[in-house]
Amino acid sequence: MKFDNIIIGGGLSGLTCGIKLAEQGKKCAIVSSGQSAIHFFSGSFDLLGKANGEEVTNPLESMKSLPENHPYKRVGLDKIERLTNDALHLLVRSGLNLNGQADRNHYTLTPMGVMKPTWLTLSDFTSFDQKDSFPWKKAVILNFSGFLDFHTLFIKDGLKKLDVQAQIKTVSMKQFEAIRKNPSEMRSTNIAKEFDKENAIEEFAQKANVLSDGFDVVILPAVFGLFNKTIADKLKEKIEKPVLLLPAIPPSVPGIRTQITLRERFQELGGTYLLGDNVEEGVFENGRLLEIRTNNHGDIKFEADQFILASGSFYSKGIVATHDKLYEPIFGLDIDGDSNREKWFDEKIFNDQAFMHYGVKTDQKFRALMNGEPVENLYVAGSVLGGANPLKEGSGAGISLLTSLHAAEQILK
Ligand SMILES: Cc1cc2nc3c(=O)[nH]c(=O)nc-3n(C[C@H](O)[C@H](O)[C@H](O)COP(=O)(O)OP(=O)(O)OC[C@H]3O[C@@H](n4cnc5c(N)ncnc54)[C@H](O)[C@@H]3O)c2cc1C
Repeated sequence: MKFDNIIIGGGLSGLTCGIKLAEQGKKCAIVSSGQSAIHFFSGSFDLLGKANGEEVTNPLESMKSLPENHPYKRVGLDKIERLTNDALHLLVRSGLNLNGQADRNHYTLTPMGVMKPTWLTLSDFTSFDQKDSFPWKKAVILNFSGFLDFHTLFIKDGLKKLDVQAQIKTVSMKQFEAIRKNPSEMRSTNIAKEFDKENAIEEFAQKANVLSDGFDVVILPAVFGLFNKTIADKLKEKIEKPVLLLPAIPPSVPGIRTQITLRERFQELGGTYLLGDNVEEGVFENGRLLEIRTNNHGDIKFEADQFILASGSFYSKGIVATHDKLYEPIFGLDIDGDSNREKWFDEKIFNDQAFMHYGVKTDQKFRALMNGEPVENLYVAGSVLGGANPLKEGSGAGISLLTSLHAAEQILK
């Protein structure tokens, strides 16, 4: 099979790159072994939440203080602002409704009841301008009977620090009787499937209106709108008080919907999306990647002019660490990381962990290095790149979106 571009990995990076290339008329395929980090998505795309240990107000300004090997610095700060606009427009064109801007972080309330700075937030969730001012004084936190993935006590404690008086209440729904019989079935996605049917929303809203009498705001787990993209808005219309949705324990309902929305956009543009297929090896000649082989397709080779590696970090096995080595498992690309295992981690778990900065080594054009030499037509994007600790910095989605667009631009030049 021959394509213009083949992307390895169908997470946020692979899909962004694929959409950008397909929008420009490229015949693209994405091969993805499994689900991605978007299934754990909080609902917010982070750009830069912390730099040098300090909370960031203006991510574009604070990027100047990042180390030279940080992906943002390597993309080039002169390009970043334009790429943040391009990323936002690409997501909106794909069908996502988002709030936020790159030169001013806003805040969202986390499931731990803490305000966190971020860049773009899905419109399901509430964005706050200020970190320490919560607009409501009395909150009711509603959970579903038997749903263990929404930690209401953490939220209540967090709200107390914001001077908010909160009360926890439980709602029973007859629609959930079947899934409640087995606690492992009482998960956010199964609840969301019930709510995708609009009559369940009607019944729930009536109960929520009774239970929220005397409160200023209703706090709920974000289990609305798995396939039905309008259901969260309908819920908000039917509940008489303001509704604040908070992420529950994954799988994330808004995350899965985001993944589906981006995948649909890619496919509508003519892209081929192969899910559940693992890229196992590649054939190289004269510093170029000629073809890749996948688990499901055996001897059928996938050829392309350019390839993009967007296989994620440790979590997605884009890079792998065993007790004695760190490696990139498909092609054996060079790794930007320490060969001495003792330097990989700090025993103090909350410190900046060195291994979080490891990734595939690239040249200035984000082409992968193999034995010290760039592979002419193999670009690298997203969290498989090293040079940042997205968890500490709050930069995960930003790095994925911007490096993917940058890689696509190198290809389109
Ligand atoms: C659990 C978790 C939650 C996160 N939540 C947020 C958040 O809420 N907000 C935020 O800003 N950032 C978040 N991040 C940061 C996250 O890294 C980025 O936001 C981004 O989603 C990463 O996208 P990616 O495409 O680079 O990698 P991934 O999402 O990891 O996707 C990589 C894909 O490559 C595939 N793959 C790997 N190897 C192969 C192979 N050999 N063949 C074929 N396919 C392969 C995997 O199956 C996977 O689908 C989170 C990260 C994690 C790990």
